Amino acid sequence: MTTTYEAVIGLEIHAELMTNTKMFCGCRVVDSVEADPNTAVCPVCSGMPGMLPVINRRAVEFALRVALALNCEVQSHNIFARKNYFYPDLPKAYQISQYELPLGLNGWLDVEVAGETRRIGIRRVHMEEDTGKLTHLERGHLERGHLERGHLERGHSQSGHLETGGSLVDYNRSGVPLLEIVSEPDIRSGEEARAYAVAIRQILRYLNVNSGDMEKGVLRVEPNISVRPAGSQTFGTRTELKNLNSFRSLAEGTAYEIERQIGILNAGGQIVQETRGWHEGRRETFSQRTKEEAEDYRYFPEPDLPPLHIAPEWVEAIRTSLPELPQSKAARYMADWGLSAYEAGVVTEERAVAEWLETAVAAGGDPKTVVNWLINNLFSLMNEHKQSIEAIKVTPAGLVDLIKLVDDATISHSAAKTVLAEMYSRGATAETIVAAKGLAQISDADALSQIINQTLVDNPDQVQAYRDGKTTLKGWFVGQVMKATRGKANPALVNQLLNQALSDPQ
Ligand SMILES: [Zn+2]
Repeated sequence: MTTTYEAVIGLEIHAELMTNTKMFCGCRVVDSVEADPNTAVCPVCSGMPGMLPVINRRAVEFALRVALALNCEVQSHNIFARKNYFYPDLPKAYQISQYELPLGLNGWLDVEVAGETRRIGIRRVHMEEDTGKLTHLERGHLERGHLERGHLERGHSQSGHLETGGSLVDYNRSGVPLLEIVSEPDIRSGEEARAYAVAIRQILRYLNVNSGDMEKGVLRVEPNISVRPAGSQTFGTRTELKNLNSFRSLAEGTAYEIERQIGILNAGGQIVQETRGWHEGRRETFSQRTKEEAEDYRYFPEPDLPPLHIAPEWVEAIRTSLPELPQSKAARYMADWGLSAYEAGVVTEERAVAEWLETAVAAGGDPKTVVNWLINNLFSLMNEHKQSIEAIKVTPAGLVDLIKLVDDATISHSAAKTVLAEMYSRGATAETIVAAKGLAQISDADALSQIINQTLVDNPDQVQAYRDGKTTLKGWFVGQVMKATRGKANPALVNQLLNQALSDPQ
């Protein structure tokens, strides 16, 4: 008899906050991949003795935005704590974090998974500082990357790759404001883990506090995973998964780990509590650190920082200034504009796209039509040119003007696509391009009737065949008229006039 298992998954998400300066000093926050190493460092963030930290107010404001957007209760009394451990990327030998009194508690986020809404609890949102970044010298080669601690320890203790040179450390990232968002263990599958992490990333980007760039490591997602017999209320032994640098890896790594654990239990084995890494190439997890090596962080209140009191008025001011969030926008677009769930999801993925759309609708565009043009045409032009919507020359009002030319039959739908591509590359208005390229349709009924009559006169056999019942010839006649007008005839009008002409007994 085989047992049915259910997975129990919680996610820890670390997000760097895009402030100008670091969490506790005046150093600028720089791009950790592009900036030269150790160029944004001072005595505070490099851990010189006797230096005193000062809390970055902007970082607290950013953290508050996130806590409120995730429906957390905001704690007015905040304490920073020292998390002690010794590691070369941490010059002070402790990280300033929040432990017993975090900024936000008991929040939640609804996510859609396979058409179903799942509410995931948010246990806590707290502030801390990021560590430096290690670069691993391996057999004389420099392997740049986001090396997590587990990686390097493995290098030292197991695979012995450090014969030549050791490690380089860059403290540019040391002290960058970092937010940790810890979910409740409410997640049940790799796909749910992905949906939750994607939704968190989207909210962070809407709030302008994080770029969401997982490749650069500014957003890091670590699931802890256990399985238990379905219906059981106790927790199984859990493993933590690291080195996930994409949502795909998060979903696959989590699914892999669930299956691995079930396999062990079904074979009568026991799960070892450990940290496991995700091997990108082999697409499997491997052991990095077992529980015996896990640190005791000896947390205690940070003596160099006073308790942080957050005024309720400040919290309320931030709450009222929050932008409308993607889920609420999507629901509104579906209710007010009749968008499908798919369309609403696509146009709210990026805040800038949603705002572009709203501007177009405010300029008089029909929401459904504007969305069709966005999804079917503008997005492919943006993809082709690798541009975001903020960077393009087509304005919301410009697209609305183009749509009006189609609606009043000045140009055909297919001509409008040509015009849009031209607007995209040149930034000219639709009217200018239509005039310059002579794309205006012939919508003059008299002019078209003349062309149609001439077509019928020129093709008596086809007319006879049509009148004898071969009605499929209709398309052929339309084609002849379009040819005669070099594609500029208004197709609806051609159809209507042809129907009349062909049914008129001559
Ligand atoms: Zn500094």
